[in-house]
Amino acid sequence: MRAAMLHGPRELRVEPRDPLAPAAGEAIVRVAASGLCGTDYRIWSGDRPVAYPLVMGHEFIGEVAAVGAGAEGLRAGQRVAVEPNFSCGACPLCREGNRNLCLSRTALGIDVHGGFAEEARLPARCCWPAPVGVGDDQLMLAEPLAVVVRAVARGEVRAGESAAVLGVGALGLLAIQVLKARGLRVLAVGRTSRRSELARTLGADDFTTTEVGGGVAAARAFSGREGVDVVIETAGTARAVEQALELTHPGGRVVPTGLPHEASTVNFFSIVRREIRIVGSMIYREEFPEAVRLLAEGIVRVGPLITHRFPLERIQEAFAAHQSPEAIKVCVVI
Ligand SMILES: [Zn+2]
Ligand SMILES: [Zn+2]
Repeated sequence: MRAAMLHGPRELRVEPRDPLAPAAGEAIVRVAASGLCGTDYRIWSGDRPVAYPLVMGHEFIGEVAAVGAGAEGLRAGQRVAVEPNFSCGACPLCREGNRNLCLSRTALGIDVHGGFAEEARLPARCCWPAPVGVGDDQLMLAEPLAVVVRAVARGEVRAGESAAVLGVGALGLLAIQVLKARGLRVLAVGRTSRRSELARTLGADDFTTTEVGGGVAAARAFSGREGVDVVIETAGTARAVEQALELTHPGGRVVPTGLPHEASTVNFFSIVRREIRIVGSMIYREEFPEAVRLLAEGIVRVGPLITHRFPLERIQEAFAAHQSPEAIKVCVVI
């Protein structure tokens, strides 16, 4: 089989590898498509160090090719979405149900080989069989959508509330749709107005940019009060976290789900005085089936989100495309 092997920063080569065989409890997945996200880009560029060589790719789907002993729940030929994180199952965090917070968590494509390859080997429990009729494009967004489903749930949203989604990349455009499905009014907030039309097409009731006053006046006008009830922050920059805190009203909630890599100078005076509730949200716990359901039932649309596709041989171009302003979700089709 062939795999895109990262040997060092930007040293990515498609090369042959021995076919994979499943150990007990494992499955081999014949990869159909693998999405690329900011995490992959940071690994590829060397910003995020990993143990080389590594097959990146954690947002992938495919067909079960073989299963090991004890993985009889799965069978060869099943189409699956892959949940790329698995926890140790034994530590206090895992035992109390916080498996997404496990300090010994393993991520496919980051800690071990992932999905930019013809085949991937993973624990069978990472495979979520796809309902009949779900297309590959839809299924491929299950992983980022699971992140968003959890973030929205962490915000304890209620129908009829007002929400702002900060950032209109793949996560933000998914968050708009999940919030709408939960019955909220949604203000999308981008850095520029470039995605205004798209955000509205996907359900946003209004759109503003952070260019003028960070979008605060727009959030007030949209909510008809001091700010929105809940903010889902998906941009993952230090500045965006600060801006998110300003969009909500006193007593409001902010869910940061992007991962800012630099420190921010959050104004804690304002947080204490306004009793803002900041609720972090880290990947997902039991949200995968709900993400797959939202995709299967067409409640979340992914068509406009997949902007670029490359075959495995041209994976270097996929990384270049990820940085282009038009890119939302770039994927490698295998
Ligand atoms: Zn990702
Ligand atoms: Zn654990």
